[in-house]
Amino acid sequence: MNDSMRRAAAIVLLILGGAALWRAGSGTPASASANDAMVATIAAARERAAANDPRLKPAWRFEEGGWIYVHLEGDPGTVGYQHGYLLAPEIEDGFAAVSAGMMHSTKRDWEFFRKAAQEMLWPKIDAEYQQELQGIVDGLRARTGSKLDVYDIVAFNAFEELPDYYVPWLNKREKTANAPNLKSPGNCSAFVATGSWTKDGQIVMAHNNWTNYKNGERWRIVFDIAPKNGYRMLMDGFPGVIASDDDFGINSDGLMVTETTITQFEGWDPNGKAEFVRARKALQYADSIDEYTKTMLDGNNGGYANDWLLGDRKTGEIAQLELGLKAYKLWRTNDGVLAGSNWARDPKVLKEDTPQFDANNKESSPNARRARWEELLNENKGKIDVALAEKMLGDHADTAEKKEDANERTLCGHVDGSPRGVREWDWQPYYPGGAVQGKATDAAMTKEMRIVARMGHPCGGDFLAKPFLAAHPEYAWQEPYLRDMKAGPWTEFHSGQAKKEKNKS
Ligand SMILES: [Zn+2]
Repeated sequence: MNDSMRRAAAIVLLILGGAALWRAGSGTPASASANDAMVATIAAARERAAANDPRLKPAWRFEEGGWIYVHLEGDPGTVGYQHGYLLAPEIEDGFAAVSAGMMHSTKRDWEFFRKAAQEMLWPKIDAEYQQELQGIVDGLRARTGSKLDVYDIVAFNAFEELPDYYVPWLNKREKTANAPNLKSPGNCSAFVATGSWTKDGQIVMAHNNWTNYKNGERWRIVFDIAPKNGYRMLMDGFPGVIASDDDFGINSDGLMVTETTITQFEGWDPNGKAEFVRARKALQYADSIDEYTKTMLDGNNGGYANDWLLGDRKTGEIAQLELGLKAYKLWRTNDGVLAGSNWARDPKVLKEDTPQFDANNKESSPNARRARWEELLNENKGKIDVALAEKMLGDHADTAEKKEDANERTLCGHVDGSPRGVREWDWQPYYPGGAVQGKATDAAMTKEMRIVARMGHPCGGDFLAKPFLAAHPEYAWQEPYLRDMKAGPWTEFHSGQAKKEKNKS
């Protein structure tokens, strides 16, 4: 035997020994704890080895105000590796919660989503994002020994587009028997204002993220990304996902980006490019509203169709890109306000991409919030700043009932308190969803790459899982994943923010 063969044999013996110990141990508490100790030792050794990886040197994480801040820096594979490694526990946890929801609503197994990721999405993903996604897998595996592979991570990144856009399109095309009633989501309340509307005449942008509390409570990452190519980005996001995905971000060239999702959108192009890739690419590379629009239109697949609210702090101009699949429209102004609460307004988009949407129903969540934005923004014309935006994101005025009542029709959504739910999104009565966090920034802050963010309901209210599940057993399937969502304080974050030693991990 030469040296390397001897080493290999020794390793095999070590593994066999471990396996024997494992088998022998099953059943008896003493040996079980010996097994646990061995597994922990191996895990610790793996983590130690991975932590010395030079790719991790420029990266860090800390926790503040209920958020996890991560700084990622380098070429695409390196940024991915840092992401996968630093957020490994949160990715495993988020993947479990999100994939359970995708399978539950569509009645499709995970293999279906993996196949869609591999065959439909992967070939159209730009090489640099393929490298970043593979990097996430590598970092995750180095840290935890995860079994997830790149197609799991791609399907997971597409969690806003595969279940609610691709699957309904496929069900219709294949005339799937007993197909579930899937509706595209209606996420978020947001606005962008400029000129005579704001206190300093410059852009103010704000957004709260509406989703189910199961996912929303995990939507608590602040990503500070310094990529090798393109602009520096600061955005909120979900662990394991390369785009902001609820979409609130700024880049170092002064582009400000948010959106709200178009309610009752229908359509999908299997030959298009995944939305999460286009959205990430646009934030990373666009230096203007025109460039942003061009990137979002390039390979538009119809997935996660949004009304994009944009600002360019260099020019003071704001814009709304209503991105349908069959139709789209871009509005822009240097003096105005553009709000969103999940309604389309271009006649062509309404007719061709959202044929079911009733723009005249004043009692629906999108339309009632649209009326409230108009009231609130008009009342505050010329006074709008970030502090006021924070208050607006927590607003509880119901324009349909004409009273204060936190529910599905208020800018700060609390659908768990509504006996109506939101029919347009197939959210049943008392659905555990609503506004899960909020963010705001303005032109001056964007110049310095700063945002403010609050985890949990922007009004500061808490959601408590245990009493909710006791009162609503119809949501019992979420029990393994649904957790308390307690509001944190409004917290400021900026690019390159130093690690806070007082915080754990
Ligand atoms: Zn609220």
